[in-house]
Amino acid sequence: MATGFMTDTLFFWHDTGTAALMLPADPLHGVEPDAHVESGRTKRRGFELLDVTGLLDMMTRVRARPAWIGELLRVHTDAYVQRVAQASAQPRGGDAGDGFTPLGRGSDEIARLAAGGVLDLVTAVASENLTNGFALVRPPGHHAVADAGMGFCVFNNAALAARHAQIQLGLRRVAIVDLDTHHGNGGQQLFYDDPTVMHISIHEAGSFPPDSGWIEETGAGTGEGYTINVPLPLGSGHAAWLYAMNQVVLPALKRFQPDLIIVPVGFDGGCFEPLARQALVVDSYRQMASLLTKAADRLCDGRVVAISEGGYNPEMAPWCMVGFVEGLIGRNGNLSDPLAGITAGYAAAPMLPHQQDVIDRAARLVPRITATVPAG
Ligand SMILES: [Zn+2]
Repeated sequence: MATGFMTDTLFFWHDTGTAALMLPADPLHGVEPDAHVESGRTKRRGFELLDVTGLLDMMTRVRARPAWIGELLRVHTDAYVQRVAQASAQPRGGDAGDGFTPLGRGSDEIARLAAGGVLDLVTAVASENLTNGFALVRPPGHHAVADAGMGFCVFNNAALAARHAQIQLGLRRVAIVDLDTHHGNGGQQLFYDDPTVMHISIHEAGSFPPDSGWIEETGAGTGEGYTINVPLPLGSGHAAWLYAMNQVVLPALKRFQPDLIIVPVGFDGGCFEPLARQALVVDSYRQMASLLTKAADRLCDGRVVAISEGGYNPEMAPWCMVGFVEGLIGRNGNLSDPLAGITAGYAAAPMLPHQQDVIDRAARLVPRITATVPAG
C-alpha cells in the first residue's frame, strides 16, 4: 500500500500577477509592483524538492482532471462558479471575491483541475488502492466560502473532497483537520451546522480572516460541538502545536470515529514565514503528519488525504512540505533537514502558559463530540 501524490504543472502557472506581498500593486499609492506572495515559485520549489529528495519516487502518482460543474455545486453557488469562469476568461483575469484572490487568465480551468484531482485522490484512497495521499495544488482552497473566493483561495478543495467522499463514495463521517496557520474559515462555515463533518482548525489567532476562528465558535444546530478552533497566540511553536495535536485533535478524532480524515495543510507555520508569526520547524510537520497517519491507522484504515494550502517562504516552506510527506509515508526523520541547525532554538522552545491555556480550553470542548451521526 502506497501514498498517493497528485499535482499538475498547470498549478504552478496559476497567475496571481504583481503585488506587494498580497497588496494589489498600485504605483499611484506607493505600492511598488513585485511578484505576488502566492505565486507558483514556492510550491514549484516544493515539488522539485520532493523530486530531489527521492520522495516523489516513493509515491504513486494520481493524475489531475477537471472537476465537473456538478461537483463544484456541491459546495459553491452556481453564480460564483460562473463568476470565476467569466473573470478568468478575460485577457487580464480578475478577482474571485474579496480583492485578495487574483485570477489570471485560465485560472478557472486550473482551479477546476486542482479540485478534480483532489477528488480522484480521495477516490483512490477510499477504494484502498492507496493508503493515504497528498495533493500539491494551486490555487489553494480553505478560505473559499460558498459564494466567494477569499485569501488567495478559489474553490474549497477540502470541502469538495468531504462532500465527494459522502455523496460519491458513501463515507458517512468526515473529519477535516485544518493545519494551515490561518483559520479554515471556509470549511468551518460550510459545515457549521453539519454533524457529519467535524471541523478542527489550529491557527494563529486573529491572523486571517481576522474576525474568525475563535474558541467560542463551536457549530450550530445539530452541528453544535462539531467545530473546534485552537486560536494560538503569536509566537506559538513546535511544543504548542504538538500539544494541540495530542490534547485536542487526537482525542476528538477518537470520539468522532471518522471514515476519512482530510487535512488542509499550509506550510506557513514555519519560523521564517512572511505571512504569520508562528515558530514551527520542519520536524513539527513531520510529527504532525505521523500522528495523523497513526490515528488514521487505528480509526479508518489509514485514510488521510492532505491538501496543500498556504506557505510563502520559498526556502523553508518546501522543507516543511517534505517533512510532512515523510510523516505521511512513514519515513520519519530519514532525510537530513538543512535548516535544523539554525532552527534548533525554535524546536526546543517550551510552550508558554498563555499558549497552553488556549489549548486546554479547546480540549475541554472535545467531550461534546460523539460518533452518533443522524441518518443522512
Ligand atoms: Zn495560510
